[in-house]
Amino acid sequence: MLFFTDSHCHLDFSAFDADRTALWEYCNQQGIHRLIIPGIHPEQWQKLPTLSQQYQGIFYAAGLHPWWIADALPLDEQTFKATLAAHYNNDACIAMGECGLDKNIALPLDEQLKIFHWHCQIAEALNAPLMMHCLKFHGELLSVLKHYKVRGVIHAFSGSRELARQYTDKGLLLGVGGVITWARAAKTRDAIHHTPLEFLLLETDAPDMPLAGQQGQRNSPLHIIEVATQLAQLKDISLQAVAEQCERNLDRLFFQKE
Ligand SMILES: [Zn+2]
Repeated sequence: MLFFTDSHCHLDFSAFDADRTALWEYCNQQGIHRLIIPGIHPEQWQKLPTLSQQYQGIFYAAGLHPWWIADALPLDEQTFKATLAAHYNNDACIAMGECGLDKNIALPLDEQLKIFHWHCQIAEALNAPLMMHCLKFHGELLSVLKHYKVRGVIHAFSGSRELARQYTDKGLLLGVGGVITWARAAKTRDAIHHTPLEFLLLETDAPDMPLAGQQGQRNSPLHIIEVATQLAQLKDISLQAVAEQCERNLDRLFFQKE
C-alpha cells in the first residue's frame, strides 16, 4: 500500500463538520495517513490541539493567514510570538503558518509585511518550518526571506520555472495541489515538471482549490491521490516514486522536530 500525506488541508473548516470522522477514516483506508491543518487565526489555533488529539495522524500549524490579519488586529508582538512558541511546544504543532503576502486583499502591504516578519522571526528562533501563502507578491516575499535563515514550503505554488527555481535555490519546498490538474495552468505545470521531486510536497488545500472537472464541489483530502497521480504523469515516473519521495520530503521538513 502507498502512503500519502495531505500537507495542507483545512479539515477544521465547517465544510467538514457533517462528515469529518467518516471522511478521515475513509482517508486512512486509502493510505492517506497524515494531514496537516494550517493555522489561520489565533482563535482558530485554540481548537487545533483538540482536533489533533481526537484524530490520529492529524497535525497542525499555528499562524496568521493574510486574509485574517485585519480581523485579528490589534496584535501585541510579544504576545503573538509567545503564543506561537507555546503551540510549537505541542507535539502536534509542527510548523508556523500559514503566513505570507497576498496582493488580492485590501490590507496594505506594510501591515502584511509586519506580520510576516514576526512569523519569520519566531520560526528562525525555534528552527520551525514556515508554511507560506503568497499571491502575486513573490518579489516582496523573497526579499523578506533574504533576512532570515528559515526552512519551509510555498503552499499552492503557482508560477514560472524561474520563480520555482528562486525558491528551491533557497532550499524551500513547493506545495503541489489541484493547480497542476488544470490544462490552463501551463506555466505552473512547466515549473513543476522542471523542479526536482525532492523539492515537492503534495497538498489539496481542501475544501478550496477544486481539481479540474470538479468545479463547484467541495475539495477533499481524498483527492491527494489524484494530485499525486497527475504529478507522476507530469514527471513521467511511477505513482509509487512520487508517493515515497513526497513522504520523505515531508518527513524532512516537518517531522524532525528538535
Ligand atoms: Zn490554505
